[in-house]
Amino acid sequence: SLMITDECINCDVCEPECPNNAISPGEEIYVIDPGLCTECVGHFDEPQCQQVCPVDCIPLDPEREESRDQLMEKYERITAVE
Ligand code: SF4
Ligand code: SF4
Repeated sequence: SLMITDECINCDVCEPECPNNAISPGEEIYVIDPGLCTECVGHFDEPQCQQVCPVDCIPLDPEREESRDQLMEKYERITAVE
């Protein structure tokens, strides 16, 4: 999963780009739901939020490293529920 750091300027550019609806306005800055972020695996080659963020504040979450297989499993879980 990716994470949003406190450098976020609440510009709202990333939220509509997320194919998994994992991004939402948090109490102070935008937040990513790690249960929904597949790092865009299953949808795109590159994380879409990272591509559009003007201040480059969406790194990989070092506490939530996942393999491509795990991310694909998450994608399949999410899309199965829909
Ligand atoms: Fe959404 Fe992709 Fe960004 Fe994860 S990496 S929050 S799935 S846009
Ligand atoms: Fe924050 Fe970047 Fe998303 Fe804008 S695009 S809301 S700065 S994380």
